[in-house]
Amino acid sequence: MLKQKRYENNLGTKGISIEAQDKLLNSKVLIMGAGGLGSGVLMNLCALGVGQIKIIDEGIVSETDFNRQIIHKMKNIGRARVISAKDWINEFNPDVKVELDKIRIDELNYFNVIQGYDIIVDCFDTYEAKFMLNEIALRHKKILIHGKVSGFNGQVTTIVPDKTGCLSCVIQKPAAFKPEQKTELSPIVSTIAGMQSAEVLKVITGIGTPLLNRMVMYDGFKGEFRHIAFSKNPACRDCSKSGEF
Ligand SMILES: [Zn+2]
Repeated sequence: MLKQKRYENNLGTKGISIEAQDKLLNSKVLIMGAGGLGSGVLMNLCALGVGQIKIIDEGIVSETDFNRQIIHKMKNIGRARVISAKDWINEFNPDVKVELDKIRIDELNYFNVIQGYDIIVDCFDTYEAKFMLNEIALRHKKILIHGKVSGFNGQVTTIVPDKTGCLSCVIQKPAAFKPEQKTELSPIVSTIAGMQSAEVLKVITGIGTPLLNRMVMYDGFKGEFRHIAFSKNPACRDCSKSGEF
């Protein structure tokens, strides 16, 4: 018997049993970024019943965020996004344990941030941050749920160290990162965040078919989805060395 009525309607969906729900309730997920994708992923994971969430974000809530960052409220303008995110979670599902870190992670400070978490959801907005996270996740054998949005387009894949190709196997890492224009539309962000959340659900419960060695590409302008198949590149400068750490 489920203790919480709020998860009753999760059950019976394509093999989501009480045991699967218990796995969710006992799971811990690290969300990198509390912006657009982070908003959508947080909402979904709290609705599914993920037991513990850690949110990493360095930003503060500003009015220009509201076209896509839908957990944040106007009363929180000027406050840390991680605090605003926690407010939303506490109101929606106070059973979810929340950890926060208002920090810009880099190669020097990330270690304590990722401790205790085996699943990382990449809700950062720039490729520079995403490729850094890819390396960190590989180095410490964390499962990385990648998502990216640009305008009407988005993409999702699930990277499992030593099992699948990594971000660098499917997207060529540039020699130097250029500033990226932030054009993110809420419906596209919500779609990609929803797909990332479905990946988290499948990885935790072991049901369904995660996007392993497949990247879904969503073109919201045309209303089309397509898949890119890829595999671990033996010469990849990121994942080919992951076993050496
Ligand atoms: Zn790779």
